[in-house]
Amino acid sequence: MSIITTGIIRIARSKVMEQLPEMVFVLDEKERIVDANAVAQKWLGKPLDQILGGDPLDVFKEWPQLLQRFFFLEYTREEVEIPGDPPRTLETIMTPIFNGKKELEGRVILAYDVTERKNLEKELKSANESLQTQLKENEHLRIQLQEQAIRDPLTGVFNRRYFAEALDNETARAKRENSPFSLVVLDVDHFKKVNDTYGHKCGDLVLQTLAKFLQENTRRSDIVCRFGGEEFVLLMPDAPLEDAYERAELFRKKFEGMVNMYEGTEIRATFSAGVASFPVHADSGETLLGLADQALYASKAEGRNRVTKYSSLIKS
Ligand code: GH3
Ligand code: MG
Ligand code: MG
Repeated sequence: MSIITTGIIRIARSKVMEQLPEMVFVLDEKERIVDANAVAQKWLGKPLDQILGGDPLDVFKEWPQLLQRFFFLEYTREEVEIPGDPPRTLETIMTPIFNGKKELEGRVILAYDVTERKNLEKELKSANESLQTQLKENEHLRIQLQEQAIRDPLTGVFNRRYFAEALDNETARAKRENSPFSLVVLDVDHFKKVNDTYGHKCGDLVLQTLAKFLQENTRRSDIVCRFGGEEFVLLMPDAPLEDAYERAELFRKKFEGMVNMYEGTEIRATFSAGVASFPVHADSGETLLGLADQALYASKAEGRNRVTKYSSLIKS
């Protein structure tokens, strides 16, 4: 290689070195700093003559995190946090240089500031996290609203609107599958007296207790609904008349034996009920509901605290 070419290469190399936007340090085999470009000088805040020939332990004493990496024998590429106000993150690339005999001749250290990128990544991550939280909250709210729209706020059982839909669906399903289902309409006896004697709050407690009792004692597929006031309806899929009647009778007896405490007073309540079934009584949900209601009023007329199956003999 001619002197001219070598000279050009040297000039070109030093230009590249100076114009690189990264910090570049070169260490010799004795770990002395033998070169540092303009960016490196700027970062260290020292002119070249204070850096060259220096011991890295002195030159880099402000940045011990970076210094630790100087003594690795392998190529490393890592992010290093260096102190400052604010602290900064450097991406550092450490390349050992070996001669033909595989002996260490020195190292080239290249480092560049990635703080902005890291900050952006952090901001993006936290924005993403808060977005996820928001999405979860929205979903939670949506489910809550959906539930509120179909549930009675006092007792938590389904409301009348939901029941109307469930009854339509069940009627269609029963027709399609040729299966029976029953409706049990039940109403608390002398409920007005509970309110008048112990107060409205106590009345509410009785309604809540009955709703809970029905939910706990019915089957998973049964639908418990507060129809209004102290009246509840049970929809029992696949239950023929006798089955539904027996279950309603069981509920009645069990509920009759329950005692609730309200402000130190024992409260007992009973209910009357009427049962009507598909397909033996009617093939429309609405008609069936009317028939179960008639049966309920027969129970009331006969003295309350009883369950009556609808029969054509019942007078409407
Ligand atoms: P019966 O045995 O004939 O059913 O008599 P009853 O007293 O139970 O029936 P009535 O229809 O005369 O009275 C029902 C009462 O229920 C009247 C109403 O003020 C009360 N009520 C309706 N909704 C609520 C409620 O949400 N909470 C309370 N505490 N009372 C209610
Ligand atoms: Mg009543
Ligand atoms: Mg009533």
